[in-house]
Amino acid sequence: MTQLTRADLDRLPSYVPGRSMPGAIKLASNEVPFGPLPGVVEAITAAATDTHRYPDMGVVALREKIAAHCEVDPERVATGCGSVAMAEHLARTTCVPGDEILYSWRSFEAYPIIAATTGAVSVQVPNTPLHGHDLDAMVAAITDRTRMILVCNPNNPTGTSCRTKELDAFLDAVGERVLVVLDEAYREFVTDRTVPDGVERYLDRPNVVVLRTLSKAWGLAGLRAGYIVASPEVAATVRKVITPFSTSSLAQAAALAALDQPEEMARRAAIVISERARVLAGVRRFLPDAPESQANFVWLPLGDGSAAFAAACEAERVIVRPFQGDGVRVTIGTPDENDAFLAAMEKALAV
Ligand code: PMP
Repeated sequence: MTQLTRADLDRLPSYVPGRSMPGAIKLASNEVPFGPLPGVVEAITAAATDTHRYPDMGVVALREKIAAHCEVDPERVATGCGSVAMAEHLARTTCVPGDEILYSWRSFEAYPIIAATTGAVSVQVPNTPLHGHDLDAMVAAITDRTRMILVCNPNNPTGTSCRTKELDAFLDAVGERVLVVLDEAYREFVTDRTVPDGVERYLDRPNVVVLRTLSKAWGLAGLRAGYIVASPEVAATVRKVITPFSTSSLAQAAALAALDQPEEMARRAAIVISERARVLAGVRRFLPDAPESQANFVWLPLGDGSAAFAAACEAERVIVRPFQGDGVRVTIGTPDENDAFLAAMEKALAV
């Protein structure tokens, strides 16, 4: 049969979404379990009567709202169909085929897909033995072809974070020639004050872009709303390449309503944060090396036992996310869901 699509894409691993199973507890996709924020369903319902019209292509109201939330100029903001789409647009705005995108590995599984679809070369720097980014090794891996560096902070799936001092030194060492994307999808769950807020700290550097999402703490995973905060020039270029109208009218309405609820968002995030500590303490009874997490999930470094552990949890109707050979990522759910996971874990790991 004639090959109609690019042959190199045949070797590309597919994005694996967290599994769903009727009646099971899903702790596999890093969602927050408390439903949409107050006012969101009403805003979507009201916007539904206008769905025969295109959305506002300039996303003016939402960009202004995000800008106010981040205390930046709206010119620095671009929105799109989830932050994963924003990462794709950034790759398209920086790389031509053969250019390099550098990132730590293991990290967010969309990164290799984004690099490959852009025709860029993925340069993966192995995580440290403590499951975090090896920033020195990342600097050493920069070449003349490096156009974009992704720093996942906190890192999905290991939950580890880069600290302010380390990131300051890293950005100094990288210089201004390469775009550095700080992927802060989990920023709202960060409690460690030594982990920097990229928007607050680094926006005076024109080559830094902060990637954020409304999918996690803001509860809009199903509507697809993500954004970047960048220099006005980079944000303007990203807005040019963006798929037209890709922040839908419902996503814009829902995001505006969600961003009206920062206190309720923080209250819910605080529950996740306190449950994270409880779940991690439970995990460390069996796996003392499980790393500290600043996100809404924890990492069980189970290596080759990862798939078997996930299957054992599934037998108890708890769905977790294995990365065979590396570890298992478990999203923090409601207290009851976390209890069910801890019981399933105990059964799976007790000898
Ligand atoms: N970045 C990271 C690190 C993530 O874990 C995710 C979601 N899994 C995303 C970006 C993308 O989120 P979304 O496209 O839903 O905004």
